[in-house]
Amino acid sequence: TEISLTLQPKPRRFMLLLNPCGGRGNALQQCHTHILPIITEADISYNLIQTERQNHARELVQSINLEEWDGIVVISGDGLLFEVVNGLMERPDWEDAIKMPVGVLPCGSGNALAGAINYHAGFDQAMGSELLLNCILLLCRGTVMPMDLVSVTTCSGARFFSFLSVAWGFISDVDIESEKYRHMGSARFTVGTMVRVASLRTYRGRLSYLPVLDAHRPICRSITLSPNGNLSPLKRSQLHRTISDIGLCEERNVMCKRSSAAFDTGELPSFETSPSPGSPTALNTSRFTFDSVPDDQMQQDVLLPNDKEPPPTHNHVNGPEDDLLPPLNQPVPKSWVTVEDDFVLVLAMYQTHLGADLFTAPFSCLDDGLIHLFFVKAGISRTALVRLFLAMEKGTHIELECPYLVHVPVRAFRLEPLTRKGILTVDGERVEYGPVQAQIHHGLSNVISG
Ligand code: ADP
Ligand code: MG
Repeated sequence: TEISLTLQPKPRRFMLLLNPCGGRGNALQQCHTHILPIITEADISYNLIQTERQNHARELVQSINLEEWDGIVVISGDGLLFEVVNGLMERPDWEDAIKMPVGVLPCGSGNALAGAINYHAGFDQAMGSELLLNCILLLCRGTVMPMDLVSVTTCSGARFFSFLSVAWGFISDVDIESEKYRHMGSARFTVGTMVRVASLRTYRGRLSYLPVLDAHRPICRSITLSPNGNLSPLKRSQLHRTISDIGLCEERNVMCKRSSAAFDTGELPSFETSPSPGSPTALNTSRFTFDSVPDDQMQQDVLLPNDKEPPPTHNHVNGPEDDLLPPLNQPVPKSWVTVEDDFVLVLAMYQTHLGADLFTAPFSCLDDGLIHLFFVKAGISRTALVRLFLAMEKGTHIELECPYLVHVPVRAFRLEPLTRKGILTVDGERVEYGPVQAQIHHGLSNVISG
């Protein structure tokens, strides 16, 4: 009837950007055999554009008419989506442009976002054409969700918008060095990892971060205090460090209350974080024992929101202001934590997956407003490192309780490499080496996540 005709939704119009060189170089073939038949069936209309070179997609999305499209979908790996996101942010109307739903149909070798979307949709972890099919179905369903972006500033002042990761050391080395095994598809990372383990390097650096004290982290829901033992003098810095190490979150009040009770009775409190039942992402139970600290000091220095810092003055490029970051050449705020050490790797990530089969941050959500900062300190044995990477496929590496692996949820961080040569990547793409800093922008973009 006439009524149902007028109520009929307009077919969605997607811009499909295909990188013929992504992954094993068979994206176009995958597109014709798998993608186009299904999306045509789903009444999606599309323009298919093949990228001709690096940055082609980035330039293309700078000049498109936003009204004409319901989404921009890359048929490639994470690298092409990185170009799209940054192209949208470079527009004068970035505020509207970045709300354009973006999607990914995994045909690259690094398909981390596809892995994350597949996970959030409730599918089993998948690779290759199985992952591609899942993502095509999710694209057809077409639910759009907000997704955090991280603004990353490098030493020359360039700013990137990142949806996946910043990596230094082991992981960025593997990512870039394994380019030569590109013909293997995603197996290039496995081979690259083995090669790197064999010639394990460490990197000296200074890592500073703004820990999240009030984040809702689904993995640890309760903190129980079991008073035991005697009091001994407490170093506040030690308490602060430990609290940021466990990324203390919604349990803040519980801890605060219970701990003062424990102090009243003059007993030594110990904190126990328990994983929430049924959570596949549970951290193993961790126990932290502290000596005493006057309650008022603890409130002031540890548990209250961070000091207000003067607003930064350095950012004149497009995009939201980085209100948490001082200029890169000025010291970090006093409320930040700094670790100077030798590292095997530093990895900041904001998705569950670092690759389709690397379930690196199981507790991450698309828009949790958190940067999950991981680092592995020097001293770890090759065996332990391999064990971590093997466990990462199932996301159980954190449960190994490897003392060299640290995870901290943060809102901002700065990394100052002190080793002269090295590789830094943002979303798997190489950027200039040197000091780098970044902060989260909660829900800035939209992703088609089914
Ligand atoms: P993969 O996961 O296989 O690395 P990506 O989507 O990350 O696939 O793409 C890899 C790189 O290829 C990115 O840096 C991207 O900018 C670049 N690129 C895009 N189109 C082309 C092209 N036509 N020729 C060469 N490189 C391209
Ligand atoms: Mg890539």
